[in-house]
Amino acid sequence: MKKKVFVTKEMVERIVQQYPTPFHIYDEKGIRENAQRVREAFSWNPGFKEYFAIKATPNPFLVNLLREYGCGADCSSLTELMLCDALGMRGEEIMFSSNDTPAEEYALVNRLGGIINLDDITHIAFVEKILGRLPETMSCRYNPGGVFTLSNGIMDNPGDAKYGMTTEQIFEAFSIMKAKGVKRFGIHAFLASNTVTNEYYPQLARQLFELAVRLKERTGAEIAFINLSGGVGIPYRPDQEPNDILLIGEGVHQVYDEVLVPAGMGDVAIYTEMGRFMMGPYGALVTKAIHEKHTYKEYIGVDACAVNLMRPAMYGAYHHITVLGKEDMPCDQVYDVTGSLCENNDKFAVDRQLPKIEIGDYLVIHDTGAHGYSMGYNYNGKLRSAELLLCEDGSVKLIRRAEEPRDYFATFDCFDFYRNLRL
Ligand SMILES: *Cc1c(COP(=O)(O)O)cnc(C)c1O
Repeated sequence: MKKKVFVTKEMVERIVQQYPTPFHIYDEKGIRENAQRVREAFSWNPGFKEYFAIKATPNPFLVNLLREYGCGADCSSLTELMLCDALGMRGEEIMFSSNDTPAEEYALVNRLGGIINLDDITHIAFVEKILGRLPETMSCRYNPGGVFTLSNGIMDNPGDAKYGMTTEQIFEAFSIMKAKGVKRFGIHAFLASNTVTNEYYPQLARQLFELAVRLKERTGAEIAFINLSGGVGIPYRPDQEPNDILLIGEGVHQVYDEVLVPAGMGDVAIYTEMGRFMMGPYGALVTKAIHEKHTYKEYIGVDACAVNLMRPAMYGAYHHITVLGKEDMPCDQVYDVTGSLCENNDKFAVDRQLPKIEIGDYLVIHDTGAHGYSMGYNYNGKLRSAELLLCEDGSVKLIRRAEEPRDYFATFDCFDFYRNLRL
């Protein structure tokens, strides 16, 4: 399938007059339509809530957009909680699915009234010590161990993952917490990442639903919600078939009717914590070709680098590239598309077939809406780009300015050195 892009050459030529490349741009229309589909897919479950995984795209404007569709936020750090606090998010709008959690983070989530999703059994005592008591609603993260496989060959390795409690531990945790006065319980698991198949959630749901029935039977705990977490993938490659969230929702519904309803648990709410699926396809990194280099290979140097999008360098991840204005030209060249870091893995594409690129051409790197900007860093003293929102009416709004040198040097502001900077 041909991957479409939501900006055109003409649009980008207009945008760069105000906001120079590189920048991440998000598509409001796409985000809204997808959020609406997610809501529809789970409308059979009255308690359903998607907790957008803030770490994927921690931008207050985008979080607020999703809130219009009933989404809450899934956090796992102090600043993510602070972002929610500043947006006025309170109570069960916030899910806190952290691990190796510092005390101050539990204190803050408790002040905001968010739901604590415990990663480990030892954190029961830790939380109790910080808060003085356990909240009435608590969730536990489950890790069944072993290997998790789906029929299309997708595999992940929960047994090797640092997250969650073992089966034995989660039973014990529920008993302890119940004895300590917890009234409403939740179960959470994240067993495979970026699953491009409609099977993942239904299969995970079956495991968690069966566990929920056993937990209720054995401990008497009231299971209020089951959190399928994230992991629903997107087609980064043009040959991948996108997930159908309506089918996924229906698949979970069937398992729900098969396992939970007969057990008298037909009032359990389904939660999700999708990040990638909510935002990934609706963001793009726009960058300009500034150099070409002909050595043992053909290189195109662009004005973005791995600090703007780390996934290719970190995981060898594929991100599709469109050369604007050349969408229909033959891809008869083979390039490495590189950034300027002094790191040889700073390549957005290796041996990629693309149309002939001229200096000054704009390249759109697809699917950077999740785990794109947010994984940014400052190696080589490079600065993070701006984030823009392409609004439904065609206008463009700045939703985060680009970093400037003063931001990079801000942590020296209490030293003499800072006074000598020419900012
Ligand atoms: C990263 C993460 C998510 C989101 O994952 P996606 O793959 O972006 O859907 C959800 N929950 C937790 C606890 C996470 O760590």
